[in-house]
Amino acid sequence: MKRINQIEPLLGIEEKNELVSVMDSGWYTESKKTRDFENMFSSLTKSKYAVAVTSGTTALFLGLKALGIGLGDEVIVPDLTFVASPNSVELTGAKPILVDIEPKSLNIDLKKIGKLVTKKTKAIMPVDFNGRSTDMKILKEFADKHNLSLVEDACHAIGSFHETGHHMGTQSDVGIFSFSTPKIITTGQGGMIITNNKKIYENCLSLKDFGRDTSKKQNMLNAFKHDVIGYNFKFTEFQAAVGIAQMKKLKQRMLIKKKLFRLYREQLEKFNEIDFIDTDLNKITPWMIDIIIKNKKLKNKVIVNLKENNIETRIFYPPIHNLKPYKNSDKKFPVSSNISSRGLWLPSSVSLTDDQVIRISKAISNLFR
Ligand SMILES: *Cc1c(COP(=O)(O)O)cnc(C)c1O
Repeated sequence: MKRINQIEPLLGIEEKNELVSVMDSGWYTESKKTRDFENMFSSLTKSKYAVAVTSGTTALFLGLKALGIGLGDEVIVPDLTFVASPNSVELTGAKPILVDIEPKSLNIDLKKIGKLVTKKTKAIMPVDFNGRSTDMKILKEFADKHNLSLVEDACHAIGSFHETGHHMGTQSDVGIFSFSTPKIITTGQGGMIITNNKKIYENCLSLKDFGRDTSKKQNMLNAFKHDVIGYNFKFTEFQAAVGIAQMKKLKQRMLIKKKLFRLYREQLEKFNEIDFIDTDLNKITPWMIDIIIKNKKLKNKVIVNLKENNIETRIFYPPIHNLKPYKNSDKKFPVSSNISSRGLWLPSSVSLTDDQVIRISKAISNLFR
């Protein structure tokens, strides 16, 4: 049987042609194509500004830095996320404060954040797990009341919208996206910061370009004027070329991801051993198909059984509090621990066929009879 990968990137002739045009143009570091890619992303999300950078991780870091977060500050981060979320906080010198997740969205539990706010708390980083948001209205009211910024890790949420119709990431001070290879669209590596705030936007531009004042036209006399400490997180035209071609395929991919989720759900929801998180496919584009299996033992059985059928799966992230750098034996994260031990990502590539989904679902459900 042909191997089925859990997720694979898909590039075609469109990306190839775009790339060749960059090679012929002589412009390699961010220029016209990067601006076009950013504009396509701000039209998708209807955000005022979009800034392309080297990765989702550097986008998170820059978003925090642009808000002035650093040494001595604290940022509230959910315990179930990719390690890049808390790591980006560490990178600024601030401390990530972990909070449990809610079972409904697998995002930050708003009922549990109140107790964590101290004088040092500067921001909250909600993570839109597989495209699902927490209640932004409640989160925003809370953040406003305590004078906190919102840095939304929307890396799973390209093509996902709130009930209100706003694209995810737009209701926070900054929204962060990633174009790493497993994401719904990829530029190899790459990230995007969106914001509606001009000052934050200008800070991002400067911080990603060695601290230059990018609002002023550069000339030979001010080329090495650096008013703040900045970095080099500039995008390349090669990435932008691929990104532009990928963006043109996004609408189609959103439909495919939704179709895959729907089909898997039809096949598997009827089994008591499997739960699906409530996912409104009118609004949400699931990045991957996630299922919650009855218990860890059965999950491991499913993984091994699928592997024997040449089908690859991916376990959920471990709870951050279990990772060595963040080790915390307090039992404050029951939901995150529970969901992490039972969660599994099924094959979710946009190239997956209906027949393959049915084959995979059968291989799983055969275990339950
Ligand atoms: C992919 C991802 C990141 C990191 O993005 P990179 O581009 O790999 O640096 C951060 N957070 C979440 C939730 C992600 O899925």
